[in-house]
Amino acid sequence: MDINKNDFIIKIKDMHKWYGEFHVLNNINLNVSRGERIVICGPSGSGKSTLIRCINRLEEHQRGSINVDGIELTDNLKNIEKVRTEVSMVFQHFNLFPHLTILENLTLGPIWVRKMSKKNAEEIAMEYLAKVQIAEQAKKFPGQLSGGQQQRVAIARSLCMQPRIMLFDEPTSALDPEMVKEVLDVIISLAEEGMTMLVVTHEMGFAKSVAHRVIFMDGGMIIEENNPEDFFSNPQNERTKLFLSQIL
Ligand code: ADP
Ligand code: MG
Repeated sequence: MDINKNDFIIKIKDMHKWYGEFHVLNNINLNVSRGERIVICGPSGSGKSTLIRCINRLEEHQRGSINVDGIELTDNLKNIEKVRTEVSMVFQHFNLFPHLTILENLTLGPIWVRKMSKKNAEEIAMEYLAKVQIAEQAKKFPGQLSGGQQQRVAIARSLCMQPRIMLFDEPTSALDPEMVKEVLDVIISLAEEGMTMLVVTHEMGFAKSVAHRVIFMDGGMIIEENNPEDFFSNPQNERTKLFLSQIL
C-alpha cells in the first residue's frame, strides 16, 4: 500500500526529555505519514520505550513539540484523553487485568472510555477475538492462556478502542520462540490493512518485510534511519554497524 508522504499523522519536532538530570531523549525529529510502518531498534537503554511512551503521553517531554493527528501534546487534560483514544499501545508483558476474563479485558475500555453499551462492546470484542483467532477463549482468564495467546488478546484489546495509530513495545520479546510467529502474523495482518504503526523490535526479519522505514536509536538520539533494504545492507553509522553485527 502506498503512503502519502505529505500527510503526517505524527509530527515530533526538536523534542527533548529528561528523567531528573538524565537527558533521555535528545533532539528527536520524526514525522510519521498516515499508514506508515516504522520499526525502531537500538541497544537497551537507548530511549526506544520512552520515545513511544511520549507519543501517547504515558511520559511527558520537556522541550520541543509532539503533534498527533492535530492534537498538540501538552498538559491539557482534554488533549491527553483525546490522544489516548487515537493511539493504542501494546506492551512487552501484555498488561492484561488478571482478575477479568478475556472478554471483560476487551470491553472495559470501550464501555468506560468510549461509553459504548455492554452488548455493542461485546459484539465488537468478539469480532476482534475472532480476528486474532482466539474467540473460543473469551470466557477464560489471562493466566489460563499461553504468552502468545495473551499477547494476541492484548492486540485485540487495543483494536477494540479503534485507534488510528498503534505502538508496539517489544511485543514478542517476552515470548517463547515458538509463539513469536503467531503474534507477528497478527501484526502483519494489521499492516496489510493500512494501520499506522511504530514497532520497537529486534525481529529483523519482520522489519525487513513489514517496515517502510527503520530507525536506529542510541544514547537518546535517532542516529540513523533508512528504508529496510538500505538500512540492513548498507548501514552508515559505526554504532549501527556494531549493533547489527551483534543481533544478525
Ligand atoms: P529502551 O526502551 O531503549 O531500552 P528506555 O526508554 O526504557 O530504553 O530507557 C532509556 C533510559 O532511561 C535508560 O537508561 C533507563 O534506565 C532510563 N529510564 C527509563 N525509565 C525511567 C524512569 N521512569 N526514571 C528514570 N530513568 C528511566
Ligand atoms: Mg524498552
